[in-house]
Amino acid sequence: MDAILLTPALTASPFGLFLLDKALKAAHAAGASPNRIVLPRGLDPALRARFIGEAARQGLPCVEGPTPDSDDPFTAFLAEVPLDLRLPAGLHDWHAHTQFAYCGRGIDLQDAAALSLALGVETQGFSEHAFALYFPGDALKFRWQGNPAFVEQVWATPGRGRMAAYREWVKSLRPLLGPRVRFGLEVDLFGGGRFCLAPEDLEGWDYLIGAVHEVEGLTPGATQAEIESAWLRDVERLLTMPIAILAHPFRYFPWAGLPVPRHLYRPVARMLAQAGIAAEINHHKNPFELDFFRACLEEGTRISLGTDAHVTRDIADLLPHLRTLDELGLPLSETLRPAIQ
Ligand SMILES: [Zn+2]
Ligand SMILES: [Zn+2]
Repeated sequence: MDAILLTPALTASPFGLFLLDKALKAAHAAGASPNRIVLPRGLDPALRARFIGEAARQGLPCVEGPTPDSDDPFTAFLAEVPLDLRLPAGLHDWHAHTQFAYCGRGIDLQDAAALSLALGVETQGFSEHAFALYFPGDALKFRWQGNPAFVEQVWATPGRGRMAAYREWVKSLRPLLGPRVRFGLEVDLFGGGRFCLAPEDLEGWDYLIGAVHEVEGLTPGATQAEIESAWLRDVERLLTMPIAILAHPFRYFPWAGLPVPRHLYRPVARMLAQAGIAAEINHHKNPFELDFFRACLEEGTRISLGTDAHVTRDIADLLPHLRTLDELGLPLSETLRPAIQ
């Protein structure tokens, strides 16, 4: 059991608390289980209190002690071993959320973008849920999917829920954040296979992601075979929409407490390849389907990476993705990157 040692440069960084979290994740990825955090002596008491609070959130004690002297804020130490918290070149994350998500209370888009770029992510995409922008939070249960009249009613209002405000905000952020930060939406189906994006909102994005969070029209007591065929129908419909990426392709099943239909890996991989739509590697609360991605590579399906971060500290958490690419033998250079650099 080792300690994570934080240097004066790291604790002085505006990203310091996030870097503590990244150091723990890097240590775990390296197979270690750190048992305490060591802060440099003489920290400003308010800053020390913030680090103690973050360590407590992680369930670890935080003590003061001698820590290595390094000028690099992006290096922490696992005992004497330096942990470089920067990511390798060539990473493009197309899937992160913002404070506009229902569950995005712990994220600030500008902080998240700055942290991501500082850690070396080349393209940081934000793809907010279109439904979260249109509908109030109590629509989270996807009741709107079976209620096209409600959807159209929202679309007929000038603000379209919070969508018009979000579009204005994105427009104002683009010049501040520059071309390495891209803006898209994560879009579902509704009303028997329609794309849940108002005609006015089709344009203005760098890319769109499609997702099946809920399968339409299932009756209680549906069998696994009925659910699979309704899910596949929705995936097929979604692949005719103007999306570049299919988010978390098989996640519907584990989240619904159902067995994952492994026999559909190849048909879905083939459908994606034919549609020219990328399959997303997404580890967010997601049991991982390595064999599906193996089928994708055999079928020539493109692969895209998504953290699906809903809190700032999870932004740029791409170590699991790098491990997956390693297991697949896929070089980073072959994952989805911006068409225009
Ligand atoms: Zn999603
Ligand atoms: Zn998402």
